[in-house]
Amino acid sequence: MKEFIPYGCQDISEKDIEAVIKVLKSDFITQGPYVERFEQDISNYVGSKHSVSFNSATSALHSLCLAMNLGAGDFLWTSPISFVASSNCALYCGAEVDFVDIDPLSFNLCPDKLEVKLQLAEKSNCLPKILVVVHMGGASAEMLKISRLAKKYNFKVIEDASHALGGEYESKKIGACQYSDACVFSFHPVKMITSGEGGLCTTNDTELFEAMQLFRSHGITKDLSKFIKEPGGAWYYEQQKLGFNYRMTDIHAALGSSQLQRLDQFLKIRNEWALRYKEELGDLGIGMQSFSDELYSSYHLFLIQLKSQEQRDSIFAAMRAERIGVNVHYIPIFLQPYYQRMGKYSEQDFPNAMNYYKHCLSLPMHTKLDDEKFSRVLDSLKINLS
Ligand SMILES: *Cc1c(COP(=O)(O)O)cnc(C)c1O
Repeated sequence: MKEFIPYGCQDISEKDIEAVIKVLKSDFITQGPYVERFEQDISNYVGSKHSVSFNSATSALHSLCLAMNLGAGDFLWTSPISFVASSNCALYCGAEVDFVDIDPLSFNLCPDKLEVKLQLAEKSNCLPKILVVVHMGGASAEMLKISRLAKKYNFKVIEDASHALGGEYESKKIGACQYSDACVFSFHPVKMITSGEGGLCTTNDTELFEAMQLFRSHGITKDLSKFIKEPGGAWYYEQQKLGFNYRMTDIHAALGSSQLQRLDQFLKIRNEWALRYKEELGDLGIGMQSFSDELYSSYHLFLIQLKSQEQRDSIFAAMRAERIGVNVHYIPIFLQPYYQRMGKYSEQDFPNAMNYYKHCLSLPMHTKLDDEKFSRVLDSLKINLS
């Protein structure tokens, strides 16, 4: 049987394995020195003032919403073409979710649609408190336009950069938060680098940073300068908020730091495969994600658009039958039964997202591709196109 080619997968080296073993043999396996080191490594890499690590991007998004005081009666807006975690974070806080349609070419949240929706929301007094901007596939959304709207309509901007570690916007690494309040990364194995499970939030806002540190660990602080009550002794700590155990462990952080050393190499390989795809697919009438030449995509995903839903469905089935792990990213979030049950989202409000969904396919994109696997993917796609 032919080897299965996944759409994405981790790339673990002997050095990564040694890094993890070193932690396992050390005195601390959870709250030792590696977590802070990883946070520092990421801050240095992306150019942010602060980093807070979490046990997933999902818990980072939740803590961030709490730190921004999102609650009942508030709105969070995001792109419907994303993983459900981008919007679930609002529901955890008792807030409401709404979506902004995507741009049909970049597949990212459309700033023009955002502006129109903001004008309407202002009239009915339901402006969002937070906008979660997803960098689809690793290509940055139009952050400058979005940040101008954020200033005008007074909402916070979170970048869900789960796909985009190493990507660049205006020649700065995503995560520098030049046009946002905070930025979240995921280290799930299919993402750019992995820590097993894991996530991290970068920010330049010290208040947000401190609040996230609290929510990550039960709402407890051991910092003398922050105590509300008089400390009774050296054992003293205070729970000041209702937080969670969302901490990353040293085992995961050591893997993350070790992987980060190869991120630039991963990015180079992914960008090379993306270029090959573009060259090969250019003449076949296949739509591809398009964005400004000035962006640098991390190419978490290689996204294509087929002519019709029938063609997409038949190619998906045929390629899967040939053990090629093509996938669909994503089902619009509002189509999920949990969201449908709320009875407030209508397909007609998101024509671009619906159209995108019906035609989209993710081709295998990862550092373990080689010429033989690439040819299998291309040949299969070409045969099944006709
Ligand atoms: C993977 C992903 C997440 C969730 O990441 P976890 O680390 O698995 O919690 C959130 N948003 C997007 C866009 C993702 O792709």
